[in-house]
Amino acid sequence: MSLETLAVLSTAERSLLGAVPHQLLIDGQWVDAEGGNTFAVRDPATGQELTAVADASVTDGVRALDAAVAAQEAWAATSPRIRGEILHGAWELLQERKEDAALLMTLEMGKPLAEALDEVAYGGEFLRWFSEEAVRIHGRYGVNPEGTGRMIVTQRAVGPCYLITPWNFPLAMGTRKIAPALAAGCTAVIKPAGLTPLTTLFLAGLLQEAGLPDGVLNVVTTRATGAVSDAIIADPRLRKLSFTGSTSVGVQLLKKAANNVLRTSMELGGNAPFLVFDDADLDAAVEGALAAKFRNIGQACTAANRFLVHESVADEFGRRLTERVRTFRVGRGTEEGVTIGPLIDDKAVAKVGELVADAVSRGASLLAGGRPIDGPGSFFEPTVLGEVGTDADIFREEIFGPVVAITPFRDESDAVAKANATEYGLVSYAYTRDLARAQRLIDALDTGMMGLNVGVVSNAAAPFGGVKQSGVGREGGFEGIHEYLETKYVLIPDPFA
Ligand code: NAP
Repeated sequence: MSLETLAVLSTAERSLLGAVPHQLLIDGQWVDAEGGNTFAVRDPATGQELTAVADASVTDGVRALDAAVAAQEAWAATSPRIRGEILHGAWELLQERKEDAALLMTLEMGKPLAEALDEVAYGGEFLRWFSEEAVRIHGRYGVNPEGTGRMIVTQRAVGPCYLITPWNFPLAMGTRKIAPALAAGCTAVIKPAGLTPLTTLFLAGLLQEAGLPDGVLNVVTTRATGAVSDAIIADPRLRKLSFTGSTSVGVQLLKKAANNVLRTSMELGGNAPFLVFDDADLDAAVEGALAAKFRNIGQACTAANRFLVHESVADEFGRRLTERVRTFRVGRGTEEGVTIGPLIDDKAVAKVGELVADAVSRGASLLAGGRPIDGPGSFFEPTVLGEVGTDADIFREEIFGPVVAITPFRDESDAVAKANATEYGLVSYAYTRDLARAQRLIDALDTGMMGLNVGVVSNAAAPFGGVKQSGVGREGGFEGIHEYLETKYVLIPDPFA
């Protein structure tokens, strides 16, 4: 298969790229990096340079933290209503500029425009949800069991935070951290992924426009990721690290955060099982599978990685899914009708190719696709594999690409054992019409989230997060703001005792 992609930016794309900030945001000012250094941002669909952004040095990173520290006290003292209104204002501005936000994500990350618009809606919801949560930070007041004192429990902002986000959801991964941090009264430095910095810069501009005071949110884009992050994390003024990305980087960061006993939130990798039982509505399961697998070109931590299907329906499930996958249109996400965009870079294409080749060499059957696509950009054919063995690398590793891997199971206990046979525990999916079985699965599947007869679970009102090596903490829901709050307990003598 080969592909023709548009190698030239349209006028609208050029003018949007020209309007997005390209500098660092430090203390409310857009400034160049030390030495005027920059790095290129590329379109993964063409390999073409879109623009360049500031390449922060360690000194720039520490200056960003200086600004967050200086702004902390006043921001924490700002009334919750004002904090909420600023976040709500940013949500409104995002609605007005949703086409721009979506196009920017498609350009720098590659997802089809319709999916980018979905991400604007989803990512925007964190601004709206936490604008509402800002005024619902509660404490307690009560009598101690001995009756000798009054116990007061209050919540207060953790303090300056360092937020690190990945490239796969450039908007939502940022709002999921920024909104609860700011709502709680924390200031922050955010470092977006080097591959997709533009959406974060755009979002920071909206927050400024919505009235965010100088220094409350600072943005550092850099190619010196390790050095800049190490300096910020080692700084005793930092109080919290929130990271979304791979488990391997998360583990390194947890070790570094331990030196200053930082509060941490870690949203890490996944290896989601997608279970289809013989009593499932197979059409619904195929629909759910398409959403769970191909959203974001398979590059989601929640992407279904292992399709565990009862042996009596595995062939039929594979046939129906393959039929649908063959109708997909691959191309640059800005083109009409495209359903599958590029992978983020050529390294990702090579890795997906290796996983497919390994599975086939161990006996998997290739039902569709299976190869990189020639031409400019980083594309891989939408692929379906049947009869994948549990010894295949693809069964253990996060695929992060448009590949369905189907492994048959014998019975419920075999399904659960296979589903839990991973160090990850982010999300699981199960399709069954048997209520008793569904209830058993809720208890048995070792994941922080579960989709029961549904293929997408993400929602700003829900606590998103994993168990085992998929992470620590929750983002979204009532729980999300508590990641940025410290509990303080006060005892006073009972005035009547
Ligand atoms: P990654 O390589 O771990 O990078 C994530 C972020 O960490 C980027 O901003 C990256 O910066 C930064 N980083 C890399 N090395 C670092 C270091 N030594 N110190 C400090 N920061 C460092 O992951 P990715 O490839 O971008 O994202 C894919 C992974 O994220 C997958 O495993 C996926 O499952 C996971 N993810 C998890 C969730 C969740 O909620 N659980 C959501 C989305 C994605 P540079 O870009 O500059 O390298």
